[in-house]
Amino acid sequence: MNKKLQITFWGGIGSVTGANFLLEGENTKLLVDCGLLQGATNAYEENKKPFPYDPKTIDFLFITHAHMDHIGRVCKLVKDGFRGVIYSTPETRELANVMLLDAIKIMDINPVRDREGSQRASISNGMNAKDPSQSGLSPESPLYSILDFNQAMLLWKTIPYHTQTKVNDEFSVYLKDAGHILGSSMYEFTFTPTLGVGEKVKVVFTGDSGNSPTPLLKNTEPITDADYLIVDSVYGDRNHESKDERDARFKQIVTETIENKGALVIPAFSVERTQVILYELNNLVEDKRIPSVPIFLDSPLGQKVTDIYARDWRDFNSGVQSEIKSGDNIFSFPKLNITHGSRDSQAIVNTANPKIIIAGSGMSSGGRVIDHEIHFLPDPKSTILLMGYQALGTLGRRIQDFSSKAPALRSLGEAVEIKGSMIPVRARIEMISGYSSHKDSDNLVKMVSDTAKTVKKVFVVMGEPKSSIYLAQRLRDELEVDAVYPERGKVYRLE
Ligand SMILES: [Zn+2]
Repeated sequence: MNKKLQITFWGGIGSVTGANFLLEGENTKLLVDCGLLQGATNAYEENKKPFPYDPKTIDFLFITHAHMDHIGRVCKLVKDGFRGVIYSTPETRELANVMLLDAIKIMDINPVRDREGSQRASISNGMNAKDPSQSGLSPESPLYSILDFNQAMLLWKTIPYHTQTKVNDEFSVYLKDAGHILGSSMYEFTFTPTLGVGEKVKVVFTGDSGNSPTPLLKNTEPITDADYLIVDSVYGDRNHESKDERDARFKQIVTETIENKGALVIPAFSVERTQVILYELNNLVEDKRIPSVPIFLDSPLGQKVTDIYARDWRDFNSGVQSEIKSGDNIFSFPKLNITHGSRDSQAIVNTANPKIIIAGSGMSSGGRVIDHEIHFLPDPKSTILLMGYQALGTLGRRIQDFSSKAPALRSLGEAVEIKGSMIPVRARIEMISGYSSHKDSDNLVKMVSDTAKTVKKVFVVMGEPKSSIYLAQRLRDELEVDAVYPERGKVYRLE
């Protein structure tokens, strides 16, 4: 028996957000992810709280991918005394650099002193600076400063995929592609007891596992020999629509809005969703499967992230790589306009319909998309297309609630409140869930089944409780593995 190997779940329990897991060997303390809690009404207060362990005593921090719910508290950890090494793939470090800097813009603005500035910051970041529950950040009391960010970047080293890397005498690590967003990785830790007494133990974290096959990325790599598995479960209790259905609906909605001479407004997350939409439109336009109309990318952060995607094209699946090698610039096509200043944003409104507008943020909880929604929600010829999860309490969710009713069935008085005004909803509201970046329930079970023969325990995390508990039950019933929904703060021995 090993002298000591244990895990404590400090975040990502009872919530999709706030990933933070502590893995301890005999002489090592390492964290996996250090994310923001987002969406909950108490999110901001929770993020401000001291960590439940002393950051000075942590030796390593491993980051699975660059979403804010996995990286948002990294700089706070550094501010609170962490001086160990941060590891991720090079792509994740690049994306995190852009995302964390953008978050600082929100927090640096004093909303009372600089009202216009506050609006600017929320526009650029795609988060709502006035509602800390949505972004998990608040401008009134920053979680960390640019100095903490700079320090974090100095501590941040990279490990490529598929390279067995010795961390210290106790741990080595191997990174596999999670297929979730650019640079996303699954960590396979091998623990060797320092005195050589006892067996090696393999502990695997899936991070967020991707909805493979995705339009751009490679597939999630299989895990086959885990002793302990920590698995994500956002969609643990639901399945997505099929890829064919998804693609057909996207083309149909684009075509119908163009024929209707309306505007198609797509709220989009800056990472992955924006690039996937550009790629899909690139194919539809170049293959002449949709009429050629002006298409606007109105998202400064989305544009920065797209530049990183374009540079790291070797991470794409082989089909996309061959398109690029044959000379196609997959994120650029005729009539695509990329806006920079907010004045350009106004120019979009002045461009005649039909047109397509892609803008942040993905849940309309901030960002430039809100102004486009104010403009086009009252227009019965236009469409708002929701292509991602809309959290309870966000403007995106309130708009989504209109999707079940055809415009003709809505009464004249039906409206949604945006920035203090009641905006009538007469546009068509559509949803497509198949572009999600997360595996659905069936595919999560399939992923765990690959290692069902070796795994001693599966910890189901990173989901709403209903979803995690449902998945744990499915894993026990269908694969006969020991699967649990762990308790926050409880120490689990891995023997
Ligand atoms: Zn993620």
